[in-house]
Amino acid sequence: MASLVNCRVCKKSVADTAKNCPHCGVDEPGKNSFQSCLGCGCLIVVAVVGYFAYQFFF
Ligand SMILES: [Zn+2]
Repeated sequence: MASLVNCRVCKKSVADTAKNCPHCGVDEPGKNSFQSCLGCGCLIVVAVVGYFAYQFFF
């Protein structure tokens, strides 16, 4: 399922599965180190919150 992300170079909307940005032509415009970092951070936050919720309720 493709979703729209902002190109890491020109910041215009592109499909996250696009091999090239249709606007500026950069390779893999959806590959953004900041976004992957953010995704990683979200997983950690979910894990930590889940851990504390578990400690609190059990
Ligand atoms: Zn672009």
